[in-house]
Amino acid sequence: MKVKLITPSWFCMWVERAISMLDDIINNNEWKKVYCVHEIVHNPNVVNYFKQKWVVFVDNYEDIEDKQNSILTFSAHWINKFTLKKVLKDFYKVINLECPLVTKVYNEGKIFVERWKTIFYIWKKWHQEAEQIVEFIQDLWWKVYVFLRKNQILKLDKNTEIAVLNQTTLNYNYFVSLIWKITKKYPNTESMWNSDICKATFDRQTALKNSLNQIDSLIVIWWKNSSNTKELVKIWEETWKKVFFIQSSDEIENIKKDLQNYEFVGITAWASTPTNEIYKAWNILNSN
Ligand code: SF4
Repeated sequence: MKVKLITPSWFCMWVERAISMLDDIINNNEWKKVYCVHEIVHNPNVVNYFKQKWVVFVDNYEDIEDKQNSILTFSAHWINKFTLKKVLKDFYKVINLECPLVTKVYNEGKIFVERWKTIFYIWKKWHQEAEQIVEFIQDLWWKVYVFLRKNQILKLDKNTEIAVLNQTTLNYNYFVSLIWKITKKYPNTESMWNSDICKATFDRQTALKNSLNQIDSLIVIWWKNSSNTKELVKIWEETWKKVFFIQSSDEIENIKKDLQNYEFVGITAWASTPTNEIYKAWNILNSN
């Protein structure tokens, strides 16, 4: 069996930054309780690591008691600017761990509102990042039309000036086909063709597409909450070839027997997978 490491497939730089910022907060021990709203990144091992360091993960910052003695952080994909402003005075400290590529979408949203554009937001419902950007635009007293499927594109006047924003972790090919359809329907559509899809998502999708013909099965180190892995997996599923899902290198033992049926195995992971975890998996596979 030959094993191909499909790169990049490790922490994206902004996930790495969020983790090291939270680590710094803990190491600067100010004898305050540290809270993080939602998973800092979609990785249970990372979340557990911080739990062991006494970081408390909450769904709602309003439930936190003794706010004045607490340091509040938010996940790398989750913070509405208005929320941030609102909570600043309530807590001892509020530290923003948000990825700048998510911040960029907020800034674009604000510009489109100021230019009176009709905003379409392409999202996957219930994803925290998506919910926050929608809430942000609504807090600007502006309407935002949300959808994912082509048949959900709204019927408006043909000359309406549309601006398109999107979640950072969508499937790039699907996004392009959607923009094509929107532009055909509304010629006055403004959107960047390279989209708001973040580079980490785009690069992982491109690397997998380039490897499709070189492997006959794929191992994905993933976590179910990760949107960018789900999109990655969709690319592979179109080949109808075998995919193995594991959450960490420790689970390779469980799939070892089945792997013997394949000659060229690819291995990839989502942007919240630690670099050492990928190499650990790669080494285990190569030593067999
Ligand atoms: S996956 Fe993309 S949006 Fe998320 S932290 Fe990394 S670069 Fe930012």
